[in-house]
Amino acid sequence: MMVQYFALKAEAEDCLLFYRMGDFFELFFDDAKAAAATLDIALTSRGEHGGEPIPMCGVPAHSAEMYLARLIRAGHRVAIAEQTETPAQAKARGSKALVGRAIVRYVTAGTLTEDALLDSRSDNILAAVAQVGGAGGAIGIAAADISTGRFETLVITESQLSAEIARLRPSEIIHTVAFAIALDGAHLFEASAFDSGRIDAFLSRCWGVATLDGFGQFSRAERSAMSGLLSYLNHAGKGTLPFLAPPVQRTAGTHLSIDAATRESLEIVQTMTGHRSGSLLGAIDRTVTGAGARLLASDLAAPLLDQREIDRRLDLVRHLHDASGQRDHLRSALRALPDIGRALGRIVMGRGSPRDLGQLRDGLTGARLLRERIGNGEDKPALLRDLLPALDGHGQLVDHLTRALVPSPPTEASIGGYIADGYDAALDELRAMAGDGRRAIAALEARYREQTGITALKIRHNGVLGYHVEVPARSADALMKEGSGFTHRQSLAGVVRFNSVDLHEQASRVAQAGAHALAAEAAHLEDMIAAVVAHRSAIAAAAQALARLDVSSALAERAAEGGWCRPQFEDSQCLDIVGGRHPVVEDALAKEREPFVANDCRLVGDDRLWLVTGPNMGGKSTFLRQNALIVILAQAGSYVPAASARLSLVDRLFSRVGASDNLARGRSTFMVEMVETAAILAQATERSFVILDEVGRGTSTYDGLALAWAVVEAVHETNRCRCLFATHYHELTRLAEKLDALSLHHVSAREWKGDLVLLHEVVPGPADRSYGLAVARLAGLPAAVLARAKEVLSRLEAGKAKTGGIAAGLDDLPLFAATIQAEPERVDPLRDALSGMDVDAFSPREALDQLYRLKQIA
Ligand code: ADP
Repeated sequence: MMVQYFALKAEAEDCLLFYRMGDFFELFFDDAKAAAATLDIALTSRGEHGGEPIPMCGVPAHSAEMYLARLIRAGHRVAIAEQTETPAQAKARGSKALVGRAIVRYVTAGTLTEDALLDSRSDNILAAVAQVGGAGGAIGIAAADISTGRFETLVITESQLSAEIARLRPSEIIHTVAFAIALDGAHLFEASAFDSGRIDAFLSRCWGVATLDGFGQFSRAERSAMSGLLSYLNHAGKGTLPFLAPPVQRTAGTHLSIDAATRESLEIVQTMTGHRSGSLLGAIDRTVTGAGARLLASDLAAPLLDQREIDRRLDLVRHLHDASGQRDHLRSALRALPDIGRALGRIVMGRGSPRDLGQLRDGLTGARLLRERIGNGEDKPALLRDLLPALDGHGQLVDHLTRALVPSPPTEASIGGYIADGYDAALDELRAMAGDGRRAIAALEARYREQTGITALKIRHNGVLGYHVEVPARSADALMKEGSGFTHRQSLAGVVRFNSVDLHEQASRVAQAGAHALAAEAAHLEDMIAAVVAHRSAIAAAAQALARLDVSSALAERAAEGGWCRPQFEDSQCLDIVGGRHPVVEDALAKEREPFVANDCRLVGDDRLWLVTGPNMGGKSTFLRQNALIVILAQAGSYVPAASARLSLVDRLFSRVGASDNLARGRSTFMVEMVETAAILAQATERSFVILDEVGRGTSTYDGLALAWAVVEAVHETNRCRCLFATHYHELTRLAEKLDALSLHHVSAREWKGDLVLLHEVVPGPADRSYGLAVARLAGLPAAVLARAKEVLSRLEAGKAKTGGIAAGLDDLPLFAATIQAEPERVDPLRDALSGMDVDAFSPREALDQLYRLKQIA
């Protein structure tokens, strides 16, 4: 057995091997240790290997899915080795009771299809990443959700990789080369699988075509990634390929580009802690189907850049928004539909059950009814008219499934019972025969009781003896006698079991008819599966159309609930939002019956950059983020939480938060802040929208102010994008005098009877003061500490009055433009250090330190 085990293990070295033994899957050695720890089950041992006991643990086969789910979630991959023959077959083959085993399947996070292992509301993406032409060469990504057949490819540069991976959120990544960027959950797969020529071998199997050209012009990097992906799927399914729609090319520039840091900080589809609730998606998701929820998440992850397409989506949302009766009906009809996309995925993978076929039948029937109900009508929005045809045209298949299947078919095919009566006369006859036999057996029991006078006599059935007569041991003597008509089979402690000629005859009749019936059902199952596979593209299109209807009606519902408005797009640069709100914060406040204060963001014409100041907790971050979220919603084709919204298409969206907010994440935070800020300065264009929240906070006051100052100038002069910049550096407000596209705003607060009242209202002009002590008091700092802080503050302010404060030296700062034109060679570190010094602020000791520092620079 160990020889067999090691051979299988060698095939699946990087997986946990589930080794089937009877009713259990057993794991051995390190696999056992890892699984026992993850699953929290007992680690035992069995036999010895090399003088050491072999660690072992096991899980029952019938509940294996549950354990698999936990192992996969913990990042493991699993190879399933099944018994490929019965012990009797093994014996006949001459093998001493060791049954043959083979790996039948690999279970990995990206190749799941089982409902129990998948989250119905999230896509489950497997991504293959390939690089051609060595380091720095083009990178191809092929990404598929095999549970639904979604399949896309794209070609990018190295610097875009992390953003695309953040958008796709794959549960598993395979690649050939070790990238500099760490990819979570990535593992290497054989390099030869990524040979771009390999794709050809899969074309006819997947899509019945001989060339990819009909689907688009794919680059070598994309072909390489697709080859890797399909080879891996082929390997994981042991030669069975899943259903995949033809690859859709995503070309760079068709979607709003959002990098990984921005996605994280805006909490678009999940919060920083990884939860859906508390994210933008969580706050707006009113979808009623799993497929709708998956599509909404992918829409929000990739807002559009094509205004026509956005307006098509918005037209449908408006239609459903205005027609609330139709929306209600649509939503309740959708809610009742099964997930046909995933059922299709399982069937094509050869893992489909009669229940999956039943789901297709019900889903496609529902789709047709929906289509009839919606009607045709030229008055319908274009997107709706385009979706409708996919909803019917499945009549023949539905008819086939409806006639063949019982109303609720079981998940398990092996015990039969899923083919409806009346579908196949021969099957009906076999069933009748089995039924007659069972009735005859019941009659036999009554007859035997009467005949023997043993009222406790029973006819039972078990797997070993089949049908048999069972009597209590004390009454068995009569049946033991020669000529009683009963043959002794087995004596147990309390009962004795017999056979009889009549019983044997009836039992064989039942068994034979049953076996034939099962075989007949299995043949029908195969036919239905073949019919579904042949019709797979049309079913996938129906699933996709239903998902889109769900998303549009859910967005309409959310808009109606929150009094949202339709965004209007304009060509001239603007972001003009009146009465905007933050959907997540507003929801959270509503739970505490607190009102949300709506605010305007009017980055219009030459007013491109708003500097927002005001006390901590005043609502600066909320204001910044709500405007970024409104851009995402608008370009994803949703209404937005505002009284009105006019905007020009945004090409790139950036959000950065000053370092100290991220302390909990345990990175070198200031470094991260600067790396991320550098990316914005390098990439933001005039059509980009940038929010910068307290950038520069992660370092000392002087450094921070200096950096924040220079960043604002660069954004203003060089990037010229629309930008909201929140800061607690009051000194920055001086920039308003120098930069003409910059204006000052603050979140308002009042002190009332010594208490601070935060009004959360964004109003023009700089904040008059920082209210730091008042906020501290609001937070419950002890009175003694507050009193002391007040004393320190008045000293500091007195000092500042004398010296002109930390920004005193900035009055005659040359323009930013002068700096960027300066030759790099002319940068003089000594001069820089000197000019950055506020000599008046130094203590004698500091002055001495600074002198030493200057000496060092020189
Ligand atoms: P800041 O960035 O200025 O420190 P935040 O944006 O983090 O402030 O807001 C702090 C808290 O104030 C939020 O958690 C929220 O409860 C409340 N708040 C913010 N904006 C508003 C608003 N517009 N209306 C009502 N409450 C708000």
